Amino acid sequence: MAGNQQPEVNIGLVGHVDHGKTTLVQALSGSWTDQHSEEMKRGISIRLGYADATFRHCEGLDEPECYTVEEECPDGSESEPMRTVSFVDAPGHETLMATMLSGASLMDGAVLVISANEPVPQPQTEEHLMALDIIGIDNIVIAQNKVDLVSGDQARQNYEEIQEFVEGTVAEDAPVVPVSAGQEVNLDLLIQAIEEEIPTPERDPDADPLMHVARSFDINKPGTAAEDLAGGVLGGSLVQGELEVDDEIEIRPGREVEEGGQTEYVPIETTIRSLQAGGENVDTATPGGLLGVGTGLDPSLTKGDALAGRLAGPPGSLPPTWERFTMDVDLLDRVVGAESGETVDEISTGEPLMMTVGTATTVGAVTSAREGECEVNLKRPVAAEPGAKIAINRRIGARWRLIGLGTLKE
Ligand code: GDP
Ligand code: MG
Repeated sequence: MAGNQQPEVNIGLVGHVDHGKTTLVQALSGSWTDQHSEEMKRGISIRLGYADATFRHCEGLDEPECYTVEEECPDGSESEPMRTVSFVDAPGHETLMATMLSGASLMDGAVLVISANEPVPQPQTEEHLMALDIIGIDNIVIAQNKVDLVSGDQARQNYEEIQEFVEGTVAEDAPVVPVSAGQEVNLDLLIQAIEEEIPTPERDPDADPLMHVARSFDINKPGTAAEDLAGGVLGGSLVQGELEVDDEIEIRPGREVEEGGQTEYVPIETTIRSLQAGGENVDTATPGGLLGVGTGLDPSLTKGDALAGRLAGPPGSLPPTWERFTMDVDLLDRVVGAESGETVDEISTGEPLMMTVGTATTVGAVTSAREGECEVNLKRPVAAEPGAKIAINRRIGARWRLIGLGTLKE
């Protein structure tokens, strides 16, 4: 296959269930993903569905017709690869908001998919937009999908509703591109908008590598003989620096160790045995895209996402591990996505909160709440730099709802 590049930017697909996120990812990534369905990659994609797409350019055509994901141009010549992007396909189902939030920490920008044939906003349209706002993702393109199902007038009406809905939000200036993911209409316009609105972030190649681990797994078939076992695999994204095969890495928080009735988290150290990026084995991995890291770890340590939410990097370079922390709290005015739109009450001492820090999701009990600040005791510790952003969720009715933004204090 020609022009196989490592993905350099992560783009989230967010929006209400059934509005066409997965269909859009499929339309943009085409057959590309099918060719690389090895166990490691499949494993990473299950929870945070993801697929890579190479945006390409056809010489001699005007915008937007020159943009494509096909290798062949209309005149039969070969298209030129521009860049490879990695789509993080957030689940739209409301109970998976935590997954959406942990995926959001890997996103450099987002495509908000809104169906043209339903009133705006649907609950998760609003909730996901609020999550982007809170996490600070402001490179956004809005895909007004399923335009094949509506008349011109309905499409215009829906467009007005979208404009009204995003007014005053982080997506206020985002372009709204009418598309049909199902019929593959206007994908060239969408690619153009993504190229313009979601640039590849500038990255310092000399920075210490830092990987957010979103998944971890054991790729061995049951019954594999001990001497044939492959080491544990980490899936996630490198946010800075480069990783190479044979590098030593540390993983924080590591694993729980019990000693004399005390439990403690001890960082894990291991060696990188293989790297998989853009669906291929590589010697060096660069930031952007989702990455599979084969390690020398006992696969029982990585089984079933046991290391999801951790950070990985050179030994000694990682931020501290917190078993309790104090955060500055900025509450939303009202509960987003809830039908009732109820107001958000102050956080009170003793209440349980669910917090997303990077790709880590952890439950904690509030040990002290003051105005604009609270202290929480975590069930499972997290590794993070002071100043890290924390999505705060409260149990309302049957589910966790986003109620505000925290900032980790020193
Ligand atoms: P997701 O939940 O946002 O990932 O939505 P899906 O991609 O699974 O799509 C939900 C349904 O809408 C599926 O039955 C799709 O075939 C359909 N769909 C998606 N995009 C379009 C479109 O552009 N036009 C039409 N008519 N149907 C679409
Ligand atoms: Mg989907």
